[in-house]
Amino acid sequence: MPELTKVVLATGNAGKIVEMTDILHPYGWEVIPQSQFFDSEVEETGLTFIENAILKARYASEQTGLPAIADDSGIEVSALKGQPGIYSSRYSQDIYGEQANDQTNLKKLLDELKSVPQGQRQASYYCAMVYVEHAEDPIPIIGLGRWYGDILEAPRGDGGFGYDPVFWVEELDKTAAELPKAQKNRMSHRGQALNSLVMQLRRGA
Ligand code: IMP
Repeated sequence: MPELTKVVLATGNAGKIVEMTDILHPYGWEVIPQSQFFDSEVEETGLTFIENAILKARYASEQTGLPAIADDSGIEVSALKGQPGIYSSRYSQDIYGEQANDQTNLKKLLDELKSVPQGQRQASYYCAMVYVEHAEDPIPIIGLGRWYGDILEAPRGDGGFGYDPVFWVEELDKTAAELPKAQKNRMSHRGQALNSLVMQLRRGA
């Protein structure tokens, strides 16, 4: 059996590790979580999802000497001029400090949108997924995904995570938190970005 090509995955999220392994293994890639090598984190100083994903991928590659894949994602809300955006995971830190979590982020989002009527609550999840061959790679491969929805006034469903209970998908009349996991993975910003990245890797882009 031919030797697998190792790639480091710059995430600690067990779900993402399983998903990437399932998709990449048949194409000859061995996905190794970065936690097997180091536990420090690079500062996400970029102003865009793409910049932050590149920073994370470069850092993982620098730490390990291996090719690396990283992703960065979040939600942007039109009525809030694109916020929370790249700050999605720390959106309510200004109010709750270290106690901030998915629930407090969601609460802050609903508070900020309190006076915004239905029909003006458009949002999208966005994901940038990046592969670098080595830490100084000048041509990272970039897969992008965007998933459109609207922000409800109250949560619905208990699947998913983060903002999923208020992210309503019109064509399904369901929130992301009401979708079976496999369906969310197929439709989501992350699923789209991953597919795009994998297609480019298979082509040898
Ligand atoms: P990360 O890219 O996994 O660090 O995610 C950044 C943040 O964006 C998360 O902490 C969530 O707040 C939000 N986010 C990204 N993707 C999703 C999703 O699929 N559902 C809900 N929230 C998400």
